[in-house]
Amino acid sequence: MAFENLTERLSKALKNLTGKGKIGEEDLQASLKEIRLALLEADVSYPTVKKFIAAIKEKAKGAEILDGLNAPQQVVKIVNDELTALMGDEAVPLNQSEKIPTVVMMAGLQGAGKTTTVAKLAYKLKKEKQARPLLIAADVYRPAAIDQLEVLGKDLEIPVFSEGTDVDPREIVRHGLAQAKENKNDYVFIDTAGRLQIDETLMTELKDIAQIASPDEILLTVDAMTGQNATETAESFANALDLTGVVLTKLDGDTRGGAALSIRDVTGKPIKFVGQGEKPTDLDVFYPDRMASRILG
Ligand code: GDP
Repeated sequence: MAFENLTERLSKALKNLTGKGKIGEEDLQASLKEIRLALLEADVSYPTVKKFIAAIKEKAKGAEILDGLNAPQQVVKIVNDELTALMGDEAVPLNQSEKIPTVVMMAGLQGAGKTTTVAKLAYKLKKEKQARPLLIAADVYRPAAIDQLEVLGKDLEIPVFSEGTDVDPREIVRHGLAQAKENKNDYVFIDTAGRLQIDETLMTELKDIAQIASPDEILLTVDAMTGQNATETAESFANALDLTGVVLTKLDGDTRGGAALSIRDVTGKPIKFVGQGEKPTDLDVFYPDRMASRILG
């Protein structure tokens, strides 16, 4: 299960405090050290951990918890609040265009879950808002990506625009958008290509597509299982594209969970959704407070 180790270690660090009536300077230092190690081991990025611990220290000082009554509970609350803040405080909804269609472009490495997420998101909107989305298959490099999207579209009864693998993705996007306008689709999702690692050609293509489509939303899809690498990847994409949000996938897996904590801090962009399984319904709105509670166990 995701966060298993992190949860265990954090609750142990906090239990050391809650077992006491009062907290002395040394107790607090010892717990903070434990929390710091737990976060680093969960693959939270180093600068994020540093900032996080400093914030807790500062808050603890402000709350004058040392030797105070109820101090341990106060520390638990401070940790909970800071975790929530680290992940963005509030849930942030999908951007909406004033006139249809709202255009959502996906970005991310190959295997991160873009194609799956496109289908899940479109399905969510169709179910919850009776939306009429169109999916554009612009990943012409990954073998079977287009087929995968077409199969998903057929299963979910959502139209997919594709022109095979021989047409330039920029053209596919232009044509797909024209079709969406003609058919009055209210949402367009653009599935783009990913590489196993970031390269110039990929970034140029994504920048071009962003320019052509002027998306209302550019969602970076990040595989939560990739830990420390996830933050590095996110940073590179954030430097190249005007990301508007992040989808964190595979949180149902056995991930250490660090990406969930670092991504917002590293990219400055909100995590908007989390993927928690392979089925079309396995996509949830990301609530920082609920995630903090889940992490603290
Ligand atoms: P893409 O290359 O970025 O388009 O990635 P895909 O959408 O093809 O996903 C790669 C693999 O990850 C597929 O086998 C998906 O079923 C799987 N996947 C995607 N999202 C999730 C998720 O939230 N949980 C789990 N367990 N698997 C996922």
